[in-house]
Amino acid sequence: IAPTVAPTAEVASTCCYCGVGCGVLIETDGRRIVGVRGDPDHPANQGRLCSKGLALADSARSARGRLLHPEMRRARALPREQVAWDAALDEVADRFAAIVAEHGPDAVAFYVSGQLLTEDYYLFNKLAKGLIGTNNIDTNSRLCMSTAVAAYKLAFGADGPPGCYEDLDHARTVLFAGSNAAWAHPVLFRRLEAARAAHPGTRWIVVDPRVTDTAAMADLHLRIQPGTDVALFNGMLHHLIWEQHVDPAFIAAHTQGFDALKQRVRDYTPRFAAEICGIAEQDLLTAAQWFGESPASLSLYCMGLNQSSHGTDKNLALINLHLASGQIGRPGAGPFSLTGQPNAMGGREVGGMATMLAAHREIGNADDRAELARLWGIDRVSDKPGLPAVAMFDAIADGRIKAVWIACTNPAHSMPDIGRVHEALETAEFVVVQDAFAGIDTAAYADVLLPAASWGEKSGTVTNSERRISRVRRAVDAPGEARADWRIVRDVARRIEARLARGRGVEKAGRSANGDGGIGGTDAVSFASRLFAHDGVEAVFDEHRLLTEGRDLDIGGLSYATLERDGPQQWPYPAHAAAGQARRYTDGVFATPDGRARFHAVDYLPVAEPITARFPFQLTTGRVRDQWHGMSRTGRVPGLATHAPEPTLTMHPGDALRRGFADGELLRIASRRGALVLPLATSADVSPGSVFAAMHWNGQMLNSGGINETTIGAVDPRAFQPELKHAAVRIERALLG
Ligand code: SF4
Repeated sequence: IAPTVAPTAEVASTCCYCGVGCGVLIETDGRRIVGVRGDPDHPANQGRLCSKGLALADSARSARGRLLHPEMRRARALPREQVAWDAALDEVADRFAAIVAEHGPDAVAFYVSGQLLTEDYYLFNKLAKGLIGTNNIDTNSRLCMSTAVAAYKLAFGADGPPGCYEDLDHARTVLFAGSNAAWAHPVLFRRLEAARAAHPGTRWIVVDPRVTDTAAMADLHLRIQPGTDVALFNGMLHHLIWEQHVDPAFIAAHTQGFDALKQRVRDYTPRFAAEICGIAEQDLLTAAQWFGESPASLSLYCMGLNQSSHGTDKNLALINLHLASGQIGRPGAGPFSLTGQPNAMGGREVGGMATMLAAHREIGNADDRAELARLWGIDRVSDKPGLPAVAMFDAIADGRIKAVWIACTNPAHSMPDIGRVHEALETAEFVVVQDAFAGIDTAAYADVLLPAASWGEKSGTVTNSERRISRVRRAVDAPGEARADWRIVRDVARRIEARLARGRGVEKAGRSANGDGGIGGTDAVSFASRLFAHDGVEAVFDEHRLLTEGRDLDIGGLSYATLERDGPQQWPYPAHAAAGQARRYTDGVFATPDGRARFHAVDYLPVAEPITARFPFQLTTGRVRDQWHGMSRTGRVPGLATHAPEPTLTMHPGDALRRGFADGELLRIASRRGALVLPLATSADVSPGSVFAAMHWNGQMLNSGGINETTIGAVDPRAFQPELKHAAVRIERALLG
């Protein structure tokens, strides 16, 4: 995108879209962002950007649709009115404190986002778990990677991908599982293409029910039935074991549980597994052979594997393949989950989820809780797990949770079974929405609307898919009265802390020494915050890194000054380290108590909602190449709409012909939960019996709710991630008017 005026300054930052974490240089005229280009010095992208990254300037420049002022309403039936910041912050603090006082800490909840910066995330987490005393904080990252987290912890003893982007250059067999990297992680995909061109003989295996752009370029496309991944990986492992392609020395020295796994996969003969998957047996055998024989096999996986009611099992079955064949801990080899959002990783690091604590501590571990309480200077951390996303909105709907604060995400569009989420937000006593954009569906329910600064307007850090921490830097001022997320959280937290202290009769005299005005506003400004004394994002980061010391993700040696001097760094980066660690487990010592990785014997289980005569189609949801989430950013750039101008339902031409449907015809897609209307686009890229719809278009754009009207809230039992990749639906001609 060419700058519209000559740039006067350039600020190094990080792209706000996906987990690749590309470095960018933001060009400004001192007032507005006028251009964005790839940062040639950033190790994640070396100057490359994809279509969305290249359009960052256009999406960031306009104030159209931005929330500019705090708004509040006195009663549900009344419209919101513009108010001063102090009034809005006081109202949030008053209502949260009152509800906690009357109903206890678990009567409030926070629903945040993988697009928040680490510092924002850290403060939200501390407010919930450290000040209020509830673990009811979850995030939209629950929807994209929580099964990957669960599997890493079960198999390796700690969260986090073992490898790094350099592995893309070294892999000689690449297994894409449920990943359309060509669209979802384009800059990494270009790197893979270059590596394949440089090393003829490199093989790509793509596991995907659809013919995606990635699958179209595969050497072998395993077009499995949706949800059958465990059968595939168990069948491949069966072949590797019985054809002596496993690595007995690695298994003996570095793992536990192989005998039980061997027993389990005995039943998954390649023929049986291929039948479950709906693929040719020979294709399964070929995939197993390529994977086992390769000098370096790398698995890249994403939502197709993770967004499943058995996502943890699918991740574990894939990790079993790597452990059994010793394909881990060396260049080009390993399981590598690609995170969807720019800072899903940072959220995990600060423990910003209902099922974890800061710096990879566990809620169920008394020592972890005691240590965190000591570090925060509080009496205790609650031992009651919080409610993860789907359960959280269920608890709001049935009145157990009275107040919810939603930041930087749009659950009324992105959650499965959104009818239930709308019901919950309607029922809640008090809803706070903190966002940069006015047009999100969730904003309609806000009792208090807090305008947040957006990308290019705030500072902090993010962690990308390869554990690399990069700076995000403010280039221009936020429009109107919008404020940085961390500051909004801090200022409400200080107010709540003051109210709680006042309730205990320990209010201190004297004005706060916390910088920029203490708790300010109409509140008791005399209160000196103990827990939220941070005077800027660097202070938040410093506190976060202190909490990581001695942990597997130790970044005790990584400061803003280090990032300034040496650029983005991977964790762990302990004190006195000269650089971050590119790969983990290179010595075969894992993060389990005995240092051995764990095999997990898992079985194939069917999808949560099998098709029936009434609901005969398998619905898969996903994305299009140039859009992002609910399009609040990408939807502002007309050029990004040319690739896929409107939402469609993709159906196999044979299915359409049999039912007499014509391309462009409006069809009604109905599940047991809801329905919406979309125009038909036939394509043999989906299998007969399956249909596909993208998730970007929201209720306001469609007039009938997005595709999540139809998706199901069934979740993985260990990771609580919902099955957004499969629902049983009925397709019929739309009766309009
Ligand atoms: Fe941004 Fe991801 Fe594209 Fe890189 S690949 S420019 S991080 S959207």
